[in-house]
Amino acid sequence: MTAAVLRQHGDRDAVQLEQVPIPEPAYGEVRIRVKACALNWLDVGIRRGPKFGVIPLPLIGGGDIAGEIDALGAGVENWREGDAVLVYPLLTCGVCEFCRRGEPTTCPQHRIIGEHVDGGLAEYTIVPAANLIAKPESLSFVEAAALPVVAMTAWHMLMNIGDLQAGESVLIVGAGGGVASLGIQIARFAGATVFATTSSAEKAERAKALGAHEVFNYREGDWVQQILDATNGRGVDLIQDNVGAATWPHDLRALARNGRLVVCGSHSGTTFPLDIAQIYHRQLRILGSNGGTFYDLTRTLALVEAGHVRPVVDTVLPLEQIREGHRLLEEGEHFGKVVISF
Ligand SMILES: [Zn+2]
Repeated sequence: MTAAVLRQHGDRDAVQLEQVPIPEPAYGEVRIRVKACALNWLDVGIRRGPKFGVIPLPLIGGGDIAGEIDALGAGVENWREGDAVLVYPLLTCGVCEFCRRGEPTTCPQHRIIGEHVDGGLAEYTIVPAANLIAKPESLSFVEAAALPVVAMTAWHMLMNIGDLQAGESVLIVGAGGGVASLGIQIARFAGATVFATTSSAEKAERAKALGAHEVFNYREGDWVQQILDATNGRGVDLIQDNVGAATWPHDLRALARNGRLVVCGSHSGTTFPLDIAQIYHRQLRILGSNGGTFYDLTRTLALVEAGHVRPVVDTVLPLEQIREGHRLLEEGEHFGKVVISF
């Protein structure tokens, strides 16, 4: 089968299309004929080399998988060949202190399909049957693949870690990103006043179409002041940020007293000078969020099926153009997901 294989970390050329053996499912696993696999910033980070930990190479990336079950391993009883599915991308131990208390995203054995084991950027992939979710008939395979990582991440950030309440104000940073495109919709559905930042008038219109009340162009003017003006000088209750060092100093100014900054990524950098006094003086809370639970994903899918939230697909590419997909993510030209279609 054809697969996008990473044999060493590096620039976009490090991702190579190769012919590799079709894998066989072991006990409790299924083989999926991949129909679509979305790219995430995670794929870029893995390619460049991890900020911490070790990535086992060679690796077939891709954690956002939708396809048809092609073969069943022993012991798999609830699925049939030909079933259309999408895949919850986290692998956790299920027995540690954190899994047992319902917080599998903090499992010390936590692994991600497409990061620690081979993923869906290939014609076939193997996943545990326990990670399967039936694909809603209303979604195409491309749309289904556009959801798992960003849907579970946005729900977990806003609703679990951020504890968003109806009537609060939310800022979604970088509205063109996949997590942001879901975050805008979930926050709006939850009854929040939704602000967003983005880089162009065209993206601002798309963010408004998803439900953002006001969108500020961070390339034009002082968006923090604009948010303060829009909230009578108060600031916002909750900020969803996966940009990192480039936006945190501004985020902290845009937060209301008692405000919460929820972070799930840092692709602009991981460090910046921090005035600690502003944290305690204004009683700010900084909250980390790492992925999401199976239930976070299925709850968001329920909103999708009910028509309240929709996947946002920017570009669909064949596997042969996977490097172009990486380029789109790295240069920030996208609004929503870049999906590889088979
Ligand atoms: Zn665990």
